[in-house]
Amino acid sequence: MQFQLDREQTEFRDAVVGFARRHLAEAALERAHASQYPWDVARLLAGQGLLGIAFKGEDGGHGGTLMDAILAIEAVASICPRSADVVQAGNFGPIRVLADFGSGLQKERFLKSLLRGESVISVGMTEPEAGSAVTDLRTTATPTPDGKGVRINGTKVFTSHAWYADVILTYVRFGPGVGGIGSVLIDTKSEGVRFGKRSSFMSGEEWAQVYFEDVYVPTEMILLGEGGFKRQIAGFNVERLGNAARSLALGRYAFELAREWALQRKQFGRLLAEFQGLQWKFADMKIKLDASQLLLYRAATNADRGLPSPDETAIAKVFCNQTGFEVANEALQILGGTGYSQDTLVEYCVRRCRGWMIAGGSIEILKNRIAEGVLGRTFSQRTN
Ligand SMILES: Cc1cc2nc3c(=O)[nH]c(=O)nc-3n(C[C@H](O)[C@H](O)[C@H](O)COP(=O)(O)OP(=O)(O)OC[C@H]3O[C@@H](n4cnc5c(N)ncnc54)[C@H](O)[C@@H]3O)c2cc1C
Repeated sequence: MQFQLDREQTEFRDAVVGFARRHLAEAALERAHASQYPWDVARLLAGQGLLGIAFKGEDGGHGGTLMDAILAIEAVASICPRSADVVQAGNFGPIRVLADFGSGLQKERFLKSLLRGESVISVGMTEPEAGSAVTDLRTTATPTPDGKGVRINGTKVFTSHAWYADVILTYVRFGPGVGGIGSVLIDTKSEGVRFGKRSSFMSGEEWAQVYFEDVYVPTEMILLGEGGFKRQIAGFNVERLGNAARSLALGRYAFELAREWALQRKQFGRLLAEFQGLQWKFADMKIKLDASQLLLYRAATNADRGLPSPDETAIAKVFCNQTGFEVANEALQILGGTGYSQDTLVEYCVRRCRGWMIAGGSIEILKNRIAEGVLGRTFSQRTN
């Protein structure tokens, strides 16, 4: 068993940190408070080979591993937390599902511009009546009479990036039950795609309800047809690891700021670092950060170039989500009024980490899954 990064991984991580320090450090605070997507960062990271890190060369990727992509997200977040979202969007979420399961035509149409940092893809799973119970989704895909396509009708909520995305990987129902669920790629410029009123998350990111009103999708743009749900969710575990990595990285970012602060801020004539009440906070934070890191690296390393294990992913995500939030929150406490102010990124880290405890499979839903693994049986959450 090896608990250290190897030489190549260390060099890669250090190179990304160096790059981020040169190009992303200066505007980090400003970027975090802007609601729009950082397109300049997307192009910059694409040029540096940091989008599609673990994708195949023939797809425009760089042939790396999932662990490399995790290292990139951590390295970028350590300098500019907001820019880590671009690493996520270009490596972990629906883009990875498209790269793994998409046809040549689908990749030609969408993947290339995504990897150039010129566009972004959203995932539309959640609906007003189907959140945690995602398999209750009602958005339908009905075959057209000529058999050349499907018509999509339904509503999605909380779809990250949807406003400016070129394409939404949309979960739809071709028939009844879990087996009837699949997914389609919907061009956001298609006739019948409509956005509702803009709303903001606590993180400052904007979202809007997305309405599909008889949207035509040609058969070639069906990603995973009827029966595709399980494969789709297997791909979604990559998104979960990106979510976990950002939680951990933002917790660590806030921790580092608090550490520096405690070593220079004096009260009662002494450095904050000299008060035992704060020393124990640092010890607890460090234990949580290290433990989360090991769980995250286990899930990513075991996946190598494939998809991560559902159980290892769930365990890593729950622990990283809790750690990120708790550590960032304690860091804020250590910085006092300065931490609560928008003059540092600590309060931003708290707000962002809070959302990841809900997004991508909430802590409770993932714990249900972990418990099923422990007890060796499934427990229906339904009344019948
Ligand atoms: C920042 C952010 C970004 C998001 N981005 C996207 C996106 O890009 N695409 C997308 O499709 N969706 C996205 N979502 C939506 C997200 O997937 C849902 O919010 C999530 O699945 C929970 O659904 P819900 O909000 O409807 O809560 P509900 O399902 O109503 O749950 C409410 C609470 O009850 C708990 N709960 C529910 N069922 C159980 C159970 N059986 N046992 C124990 N506890 C339970 C939940 O954990 C939660 O705490 C995003 C959400 C957030 C916060």
